[in-house]
Amino acid sequence: MSKKKVPGRIYLTEDQLPKAWYNMQADMPNPVAPPLNPSTHKPASGADFEAIFPKDLIEQEMTLERYIDIPDEVMKMYKLMRPSPLIRAYCLEEALGTPAHIYYKYEGNNASGSHKLNSAVPQAYYNKIAGIKKLTTETGAGQWGTALSIACGFYDMACEVYMVRVSYDQKPYRRVIMETYGGSVIPSPSPSTESGRRILREHPDSRGSLAIAIAEAVEVAAGRSDTNYALGSVLNHVLLHQTIIGLEAQKQFEIADEYPDIVIGCCGGGSNLGGIAFPFMRDKIVNHQDIRIIGVEPAACPSLTKGKLAYDFGDASGFTPLMKMYTLGHDFVPSGIHAGGLRYHGCSPIISKLHEDGLMEATSVSQSEVFAAAKLFAKHEALLPAPESSHAIAVAIQEALKCKETGEEKVILFNLSGNGYLDLAAYDNYNHGKIVDAEYTDEMLAEGLKTVPEL
Ligand SMILES: *Cc1c(COP(=O)(O)O)cnc(C)c1O
Repeated sequence: MSKKKVPGRIYLTEDQLPKAWYNMQADMPNPVAPPLNPSTHKPASGADFEAIFPKDLIEQEMTLERYIDIPDEVMKMYKLMRPSPLIRAYCLEEALGTPAHIYYKYEGNNASGSHKLNSAVPQAYYNKIAGIKKLTTETGAGQWGTALSIACGFYDMACEVYMVRVSYDQKPYRRVIMETYGGSVIPSPSPSTESGRRILREHPDSRGSLAIAIAEAVEVAAGRSDTNYALGSVLNHVLLHQTIIGLEAQKQFEIADEYPDIVIGCCGGGSNLGGIAFPFMRDKIVNHQDIRIIGVEPAACPSLTKGKLAYDFGDASGFTPLMKMYTLGHDFVPSGIHAGGLRYHGCSPIISKLHEDGLMEATSVSQSEVFAAAKLFAKHEALLPAPESSHAIAVAIQEALKCKETGEEKVILFNLSGNGYLDLAAYDNYNHGKIVDAEYTDEMLAEGLKTVPEL
C-alpha cells in the first residue's frame, strides 16, 4: 500500500480522456445469451431492431470487438463535461474512523445531473449521422429524458419525451430543463398515440407508468422513418458508452498509485455500475486481479438479489425483444421508493451473466439506510448525492466500517452517479420522518414471476 499522500481530488486533463470505450463482451468467460424476437422467440437479428435503432448502435449491441473508438464529434461534447474527478473522501473516512481509503467518481457535474449524458451523447450522434431527425424516449423520474434532450439539443435534433403523468405533474422542474434544451415533453398516456388513446379510453385519469410511456415512444419511432427511439440503460451499447467512467478511474488510480479492492455501484438497469466496473472486471478476468465488484439495489426492487434468471420482456407491455436477465417479472411495479432510477424490474443481460458466473456480488439496502448514508455523506463531503447513488454510498460505508473492525486499509471505490438537487421532495420526506421502508415479500416475487413467459 502506498504511503504517499494522495490529493483529495484527482483530475485528468482533456487530452487524457480515454479515446475508446471498452466492450465487456470481448472478455466475458461465457457469452451473453442473445435477445429473442418477442413473437417468434427465435434469436433476434439486427433487422429486428432496425425500425427503431441506427446501424452503428445495433452493431455496438452485438460486437465482440474489445475497444470502440469514440468519434470526434462525441469527444467534442464529452469535453464539455469530462473527464470527471476521482475524489478521495478524506472527511468521510475521518468521520467513520476507518483505515479504509474511500474514493468516488463524481458523475453529477453536468446539466443532466447524472451519468446518463455519457450515453445520450453518442446515441444522439449515431442517429444524427444516420439521417434521423427526431428521437423519442420515455422518462419516469426524469434524468434520462433530461440527458437525451440536452444531447439532441447539441446535435440540433428534435427530442420527444413521454413522461409518466404522475412525474410530469409532480416534477415540473425536470420538464422545464428538457424544454429549455428544446425537448418536447408529453405527459403519458397521451392522446397522440394509439397506445395512449387505448389507455385513456379505459382509464381517463390514468397516472401513467414507464411501460405505457415506452409503448408510446416506441410506437412513434417505429411508425416514422426519420424518427428513432433511445433507451437510457440495460442494453449492451448503453453500458459500453458508460465505460468511459471506469476507464478514467483507472488512469486516476495510476496517478494516486493505488488500486481498488472493492468497486461499488447502485444498480437499476445496470448502466452506471457497468460503466464504472467493467474496465476493472477485465483486470479481474484477464489479469486475475483480486477485486470485488458489488451492485447495490433497493430492498423494494431487488432483481439481482431475489429475482429469477430468465428470458423476460424489457417493458411491461411485452413489445421489446426478450432478454435473459435477473427479473422480478415485467409486470412488477415496485412500491413508491424514492429512487426513481432504480425502479426497474430487470437488469442488464451482461451484468446478469457476470453475476450468474460468480464474478460479481449483489446486495440490497432499505430506503432509510440509504438516506442515512446520503445525509452522512452530504455532511462530510459537501455534496448532495442522488438517492440512487446513495445506495452505493450506504454499502461503501458498510465496507469501510468492516475495515475499521479488522484494521484493514482497503481501497474502496464507488460511483456517485448523480446529484440530488431535483430529488428534494425525497429528502424532505426523510427529514420529516415520512420515509417508509417498503417490503418485498416472497408473495410479491411469486406474483411477479407469473408474468415471465414460459419458453
Ligand atoms: C438512472 C439513474 C440510475 C440507475 O440507472 P442505471 O442504469 O442502473 O445506472 C442511477 N443513478 C442515477 C443518478 C440515475 O439517474
